[in-house]
Parts: sequence; structure tokens; C-alpha cells
Amino acid sequence: MEKVLVVGAGFMGSGIAQVSAQAGYEVYLMDIQTAITDRAIKDIRWSVEKLAAKDLLRESSEKILARISLEKNLSIASEMDWVIEAVLEAEELKREIFQELDRISRPETPLATNTSSIPITRLAENTRRPERVLGMHFFGPVPLMKLVEVVKGEKTSLEIFERGVTFVQCLGKTPIRVKQDIPGFVMNRIFSAAFREAIDLVNLGIVSPEDVDVGMRLGYGWNAGPFEIADNAGLDTCVRIGETLRALGAGHLAPSSDLIERMVAEGRLGRKNMKGFYRYSPEGKRLPWDNK
Ligand code: NAD
Repeated sequence: MEKVLVVGAGFMGSGIAQVSAQAGYEVYLMDIQTAITDRAIKDIRWSVEKLAAKDLLRESSEKILARISLEKNLSIASEMDWVIEAVLEAEELKREIFQELDRISRPETPLATNTSSIPITRLAENTRRPERVLGMHFFGPVPLMKLVEVVKGEKTSLEIFERGVTFVQCLGKTPIRVKQDIPGFVMNRIFSAAFREAIDLVNLGIVSPEDVDVGMRLGYGWNAGPFEIADNAGLDTCVRIGETLRALGAGHLAPSSDLIERMVAEGRLGRKNMKGFYRYSPEGKRLPWDNK
């Protein structure tokens, strides 16, 4: 059984660990605090049991959960066949983690990052194996979303790029190949085009977030509107992505208003703390912010 280490047990890391275990991999999920990995495994249990109740799994939820171990540090990286990093969207932190993973893991182990906006090439720079570093950009919630962008860094070898594609297929996901390491990769650039316009219109008081979401669902057939997507992703994460894009000289891809920054400063982080463009009931039901 191949072994996968997922670094970071937040919204994305816990989902990546879950789908890897569902696909039969032996999974190690690492975060800096036991409280976080404990919460992650509870969330995974809830999700796996829900899928089992709908008869969507090939095995019992207990068998799947038994394949996930929780870790407090990176030392287990020495035994891994794959490493996927999914920590906070902060370049310095990710660079340090890549350096550490490069030091600990076997030289042949591919190191993947789930970054939304930091160039793969910059994270690879700190390692002795840039040809084995690649982007694996999952979409959240990972157990439900089928897409993964596999991103080639400047030095990623074609062999590792294709192994990444195959790995993603083994997880039951559909990969798309991003052949060049451009800011925002492909899907975030396209999403951002709609999102930055939507934010500007809301910021000007022309339309409510709820009406934009209804519009995109009914007018364009989106499964979720841009503000629902942003709340699910985390508004703090959206701010970090905007900062990275500006730092990369691709500020035209980020919203021009500071609406999201102001919301984050007020403690509105999205679904993760039940307050974002929407409010959320204790059961997770989405409610309009101002009870119109
Ligand atoms: P999150 O805040 O839910 O989780 C990040 C986790 O990283 C936290 O649990 C934190 O404790 C952990 N962490 C911080 N420092 C660490 C360290 N030194 N070692 C191990 N763990 C550490 O964030 P998220 O939404 O899961 O995003 C994670 C990554 O995935 C980011 O790079 C983000 O851009 C990317 N991403 C997010 C989404 C989304 O929809 N939220 C989608 C695609 C990609």
C-alpha cells in the first residue's frame, strides 16, 4: 500500500487525506496542534459516514478511517511515496516546509503543493529536487469536488507531471494539466475574472451578494455563486491569494476594492467561523446576512 503524507489538516488538508484514504492509500495527516488534527479526524469521520449512508463508498467507513494516522511533526516524511502540502497560503511558511520535507524524505519522493497562488517554481527553489516538485491544486470541499489542476513548475520533469496526473486519477478525481507556472494557474484566473467584478458591484452597493449568487446559478448554470464559493474557501484565504497575486505583479487578477480585507478585519472569515458574505446556522445552513 502506497503511503501519502498530507501536511496541514485544515479545510483542504483534511479533505485530501480523506479522499486518499478512500482511494486505498495509507495516509498520514500532520498539523502543528493536536487539537487541529483531532478536529480534522472528526470532520473526516462525519463526511465518510455520510458518504457510506448514501452507499457511495466501496468499503466500510471504519476501514477507511483506520488507514489515517495523525502526526505532530514531519519525521514520518522519510517513509512516504507521496507528500502533499496544504498549509496556510503563506510563501515563507511553505518554503520552510519544502526545505524540511526535502531534507527528510527520500530523494525520489515527489513533493506536491496545494497552493492556490504561490508559484510552484518558487517553492521548488528551496529543494534539491525541483524536478520532483509539482502543483496539485484541489478544489474544496475536496470529497465532493472532482477537479484537480496539476501544475508544472519550471523545472518539474514531464515524468513527475504525468505521475501527478495518474495519482489524481487514482483518487477518483479529474485532472487538468496546467503546463506553465503562471500566477493563479488557470481556474483561479478564470474564477477571479467573475469574482472581482462581483465584489466591485457589491462594494458599490449596486447588488447584494445573494442576488449575484442567484444570478450566476440561474443565469449561467453555476452550481454555486461566487460569494458562496468564497465563503466556503475562507475569506482569509481569499485575502492571502490577492496579496500573493499583487506581489507577483498580477494585481489585475485580484479585486480592486478592499471589501474582503475589511470583512476579515471584522472577523468575517466565511463558513469556517459561520460569518462571511452569509451567516450560517449551527447546522451549517446558509442565511442572508441582513434578514431581508
Ligand atoms: P486552513 O486555514 O483551513 O488550513 C491550513 C492549516 O495549515 C491549518 O490547520 C494550520 O494549523 C496548518 N499549518 C500552519 N502551519 C503549519 C505547519 N508549520 N505545519 C503543518 N501545518 C501547519 O486553510 P485551507 O483552506 O485548508 O488552505 C490550505 C492551502 O490550500 C492553502 O495553500 C490554500 O491556498 C489552498 N487551497 C485552498 C482552497 C480553499 O477552498 N480553501 C482551495 C484550493 C487550494
